[in-house]
Amino acid sequence: MRSRTACPGCGIVLPEAATSERARLHASPACEAVLDEILGYEFQHPVMLRYNQLTIDTYGAQHAGGSAPQVRVCSSLAGLWLALEHGFSAEDVRAVHRRMGDPTPAWPLFDPPAPRQRWLTVLDVAEAGVRQHSDGGHARAAGQWAETVWNAWLAEVPEVDDRIEAMLRSIFLETGHNEGLHGTIGSASAIHRLLGLLEA
Ligand SMILES: [Zn+2]
Repeated sequence: MRSRTACPGCGIVLPEAATSERARLHASPACEAVLDEILGYEFQHPVMLRYNQLTIDTYGAQHAGGSAPQVRVCSSLAGLWLALEHGFSAEDVRAVHRRMGDPTPAWPLFDPPAPRQRWLTVLDVAEAGVRQHSDGGHARAAGQWAETVWNAWLAEVPEVDDRIEAMLRSIFLETGHNEGLHGTIGSASAIHRLLGLLEA
């Protein structure tokens, strides 16, 4: 029998994955394998693709410690802030991500919430969705998962929302990053919406 290990990010305990690959984030390879399972389900069912960005950002925010790249942590948190606090669509979140560029000293470094006993994980989403072939189950669980992860950040990391907003302001208002948007209609509308939010 394979031994079981706890994921350092979300805390789920799973049999060790039969892979020698190292995890890409602050996660166990077995946990990342469950992520790949639900991402695959989203890609097979175009109606669920709109959850894809939320899945990626929620997973990034829940596996943000250790050697997880700062760019991934900050873009995940920006994605959750935009989607959950401001109602940005997956496509609009992607447009913002594409224009964030590389981390600068103005980007925050975070001490993420420790794994909790009672938060949803990628395993809950897999069990409610792909493992039952349930689109509705996937949709519900993915949304609740995103909420529990973002709420853990809000509860445990002081001013995470203000710090994300300040980072986006430094990227999009203070560096001239918003120039040259003409001709990129889809992403330009998302950026204009973001600028309106940051200037308010
Ligand atoms: Zn995990």
